Amino acid sequence: MVAEIISVGTELLLGNIVNTNAQYLAGRLAELGFDLYYQTVVGDNTAHLKAALDVAYSRAELVILTGGLGPTKDDMTKEMLVSYFGKKLTFDPEVFQNVVKQVHAFGATEITENHRKQAMVPNDSIILINEHGTAPGCVMQQEGKIAVLLPGPPREMKPMFEQCVEQFLIKLVSKSIASVCIRLKTREQAPADRVGELPVARKLDELLDGENPTVATYAQEEGVLVRVTAAAPTHADALLMARMVAAKCCARIGEDVIKEVTEQ
Ligand code: ATP
Ligand code: MG
Repeated sequence: MVAEIISVGTELLLGNIVNTNAQYLAGRLAELGFDLYYQTVVGDNTAHLKAALDVAYSRAELVILTGGLGPTKDDMTKEMLVSYFGKKLTFDPEVFQNVVKQVHAFGATEITENHRKQAMVPNDSIILINEHGTAPGCVMQQEGKIAVLLPGPPREMKPMFEQCVEQFLIKLVSKSIASVCIRLKTREQAPADRVGELPVARKLDELLDGENPTVATYAQEEGVLVRVTAAAPTHADALLMARMVAAKCCARIGEDVIKEVTEQ
């Protein structure tokens, strides 16, 4: 799966801070098996973030964003993404409880309107409680687009990524395998008329070079076995992909060969 990173923060653009979050996330994503071709840095600006998101989703399914989740006026990542995904913000008492806990742990006592704002979370999303700060993270999904929002401070972002996000991402890259087996026999019983592996391979030609699905031929005593194997996020998707290529194989092999098709 292709992923991109968008680091939000005018401080980053101006060169006031080093983008260690992108470095960290790029390393983790590569280790988890994601393809990462682009990283973007964008200031705290709604229009610029929207433009960056449009471009990122034209190239990638997963976008990880850091920064701009705080309660101050310049922090607009959460609001922007909520409107981008057509979601709504609702008050979450559990998140609010954590915000209060974090404020007290910080030595403050006064709970302000800004703190309540931190407990406003998008509907139909996975909410990531922040164990080291007040801003919750979240995962939003819609029509094949996935956004992971993480706080800017590395000491909040890293534990949230490791404790909550990694498990979610591992599931995205783990694949299911499905196979369609086509057993080929001639209508004649004479050994000389048996289906041979080489003529079958010739007919399948470039289909044998496919990477997903793969197509392989095996010579067997009663004929030839053609196995089409596909990998996809779900078994149903993999099976569909394998069936489509198996149908092409059958068409190329021709009518005069008996085909027994089984699916796994
Ligand atoms: P807060 O609630 O602290 O405001 P936030 O999610 O709104 O968090 P920002 O306001 O964008 O995050 O950044 C807060 C601080 O986090 C920055 O001043 C900087 O120290 C650190 N930070 C933000 N982005 C990055 C980054 N990409 N790499 C390293 N540090 C960062
Ligand atoms: Mg902030």
